[in-house]
Amino acid sequence: MVCDTENLNIKAIVDKLVAGAETTLEEWGTLLELSAPEDLQALYEAAYQVKLETVGPTVYFRGIVELSNICSKDCYYCGIRRSNTNVERYQMAEDEIVRDALWAHEHRYGSIVLQSGERQDDKFTEQIERVLKRIKAESGGELGITLSLGEQTREVYQKWFDAGAHRYLLRIETTNPDLYRMLHPETHDFDARVACLDELRAVGYQVGTGVMIGLPGQTTADLASDIQFFRERDIDMIGMGPYVLHSETPLAASVDAIDPKTQLERGLKMIAVTRLVLRDVNIAATTALQALNPIGRELGLQAGANIIMPNLTDTPYRKDYQLYEGKPCLDEDSTMCRGCLQKRIAGIGETIGLDQWGDSPHFLKRTGDGGEAS
Ligand code: SAH
Ligand code: SF4
Repeated sequence: MVCDTENLNIKAIVDKLVAGAETTLEEWGTLLELSAPEDLQALYEAAYQVKLETVGPTVYFRGIVELSNICSKDCYYCGIRRSNTNVERYQMAEDEIVRDALWAHEHRYGSIVLQSGERQDDKFTEQIERVLKRIKAESGGELGITLSLGEQTREVYQKWFDAGAHRYLLRIETTNPDLYRMLHPETHDFDARVACLDELRAVGYQVGTGVMIGLPGQTTADLASDIQFFRERDIDMIGMGPYVLHSETPLAASVDAIDPKTQLERGLKMIAVTRLVLRDVNIAATTALQALNPIGRELGLQAGANIIMPNLTDTPYRKDYQLYEGKPCLDEDSTMCRGCLQKRIAGIGETIGLDQWGDSPHFLKRTGDGGEAS
């Protein structure tokens, strides 16, 4: 009897969300805590339905170039943090970065992401500026460019925007300031990170953020508040994924092993509830899902995500860009990644939006245009 009442309650919440009716953080929390397979299936199916209605069944590619693992920060969870002396540091040459970007263009990926550890020196800023200008010019302005290069000043964000970048991904990591403090040294400031999101918006970027899911000490209420943060700040794109251990980090030393199945499930539920609440944003099925399960990203698409970030980084560098353990495709090259992904996407009945930027409908509505060039 109790069970039936619970089921009715879950169905009522899901129905309200599918219809676009108002719901509470507590109700999102109820969905984030589901564990029975039939409940999870119903949740993912509802999110998939809303995805079809709002962003459609097309998957957009953002080929990711991990251009350097040199980082001035020391986040307690990350394998390439400054204090990890076991990492062999690299910085790709400008020609290598541009070549990888043009590979993406030739293979009809609409967009790329340039990501790296965080550096704030002029040499780095100028190198990125030159690379952006070259990619824009050499792709005839067709390739969309997202940056994921950490916290920078307003001037730097502006410089890179003027050079051709139009989207920026900066995860807030967690919106609980106490938890944020536990995950970072004192020199890392939660408010400064939030301020960066405001600067990015003011400059004119499509703004992406996200969190790690299943962090030690993180509660369901924290995750519901994360979704609320995305909504209140009118975020255009979400890149979030499960926290995955890296043994050479302080955080891993302080936690017990985490069950990959539970962690994957947490990630998928968060995608589904975010899709149900935010509806028309872009949501990435991130590589961390695949680190936990070989078909993790496909499951992410089926739970409401619509973006995939195939790895374009030159194979020799990949082993040195391990933010967490179990990162897939370390010994593959971009051609193999592409072939494998296309099969997987066709396998779940979706198509790839070739030659398109795939801006989030949310951004297009917010601004009245998206600057789509192709
Ligand atoms: N340095 C930039 C971009 C590279 S890090 C930045 O920090 O913004 C990109 C993302 O990797 C981070 O935002 C973080 O959410 C994620 N990450 C780092 N370590 C991780 C881990 N152990 N498990 C899952 N995600 C992790
Ligand atoms: Fe550096 Fe980003 Fe890793 Fe933090 S998460 S240590 S900023 S690469």
